[in-house]
This record gives sequence, C-alpha cells and structure tokens, in this order.
Amino acid sequence: MTKTLFMQKAAIVKKIPKKRNEIIKGCLVKLKLTCGKKNCKCYTKGEKHTSLYLSKSVNGKTRMIYIPKRYEAKVKEYVKRHKQMQKVIEELSEINIKILKTGTEEK
Ligand SMILES: [Zn+2]
Repeated sequence: MTKTLFMQKAAIVKKIPKKRNEIIKGCLVKLKLTCGKKNCKCYTKGEKHTSLYLSKSVNGKTRMIYIPKRYEAKVKEYVKRHKQMQKVIEELSEINIKILKTGTEEK
C-alpha cells in the first residue's frame, strides 16, 4: 500500500513544469478603459481599449499591475505555470501526509 503511495508521489513530481523558474502568482484581469484623448475612437466611437492587468494580493491589499501588450502572452504563460506548480504542491502535501501516516520511511 505504501509502495503505491510512493509511486503516486513519483507521478506527481513528474508534473512539475520544466520551466519552473518562469512563474508569476496572480490573476489576470481584462479591463476596458478610455484613454482620455478626445480624438481617439474610444471617445468618438465608444470603442474602449482593452488592457490586461495582473491582480495581485500584497499584504492583504489588491494591487493591479498593467501588462504591456508585448508581454501579454508571456505573462499568461507564467500565470498558468504558477497555477500548475501550486496544484503540484497541494498534491505533494496531501501524499506526504498520507505517507507519514503509514509510518514508513522513504528510501
Ligand atoms: Zn483611446
């Protein structure tokens, strides 16, 4: 039974993303905004600009960080990878508790 747990653990470890350094914690939010220029289509036609922001909780306060267009794809990838890492960490925590409960040492 314990052997199965160790096998499960090995399977979880394999799910750790290769580029585990490239991660960002936060949620991506798309905001529709007007730029304030009277000759811009957001003012004349009401076609608002969409901008990507990273919503991040820092010391209990939510911070919104603007993501420039050229970084959008990269940041999306980083955020996704962080979520993946977090999932792996959760799964490892669970399996380690189960292993400790069995009282067996890992070889
Ligand atoms: Zn505008």
